[in-house]
Amino acid sequence: MTPADTLAQIAHQISICQQCVLHSTRKLPVPGEGPSNAQIMLIGEGPGFYENEQGRPFVGAAGNFLSELLARAGLTREEVFITNVVKCRPPDNRDPLPEELAACRDYLESQIAAINPKVIVTLGRFSMAIFFPRARIGAVHGQASKVNGRIIVPMYHPAAALHQPALKSTVERDFLHLAESIKQNVPARPVTQAPAAQSEDPADSATQLSLF
Ligand code: SF4
Repeated sequence: MTPADTLAQIAHQISICQQCVLHSTRKLPVPGEGPSNAQIMLIGEGPGFYENEQGRPFVGAAGNFLSELLARAGLTREEVFITNVVKCRPPDNRDPLPEELAACRDYLESQIAAINPKVIVTLGRFSMAIFFPRARIGAVHGQASKVNGRIIVPMYHPAAALHQPALKSTVERDFLHLAESIKQNVPARPVTQAPAAQSEDPADSATQLSLF
């Protein structure tokens, strides 16, 4: 089975999933989209109003802003895979509950395994917590680290940046420096709380500049 076949199979499983309460209020599930051989994967939190209507991730204002941010990094939506930690919309855009995150986790893990991206950019604290469970996003945003052999870059969520003007320039700057941060694979500024599960293997400082 090819990675594309696997992603299609996962999307089908999501479309009929009833493993958590979010299935009862969703209009359309949002499994994610992008090439099955994407080198970069973006993981947000959960579908919002427009995503629930269209069944696609990051549409509407936050999606437009994400496209702008990707352009700052020299990327397009068409070359990255975009998904969320929960595939169905939490009512009224509330935070996903722990049991919902747990119920949906296998789908995300299966997507990561199928795509095998070189870089994962987390958008917001829920996807960040998968890789850096003890980190604060205010301390580690924009900083590339290796976790289990893969480069992970935590970023603020685009929607949060749209609602908090003080964050907007920060996330714009972080995306502008994404390639540089990946190349260095070291914190661009002092980390006040070290990410958990960070590799100590010096060999892991190998870079993927060719990605950009
Ligand atoms: S959020 Fe995930 S676990 Fe819950 S119903 Fe949707 S696909 Fe299933």
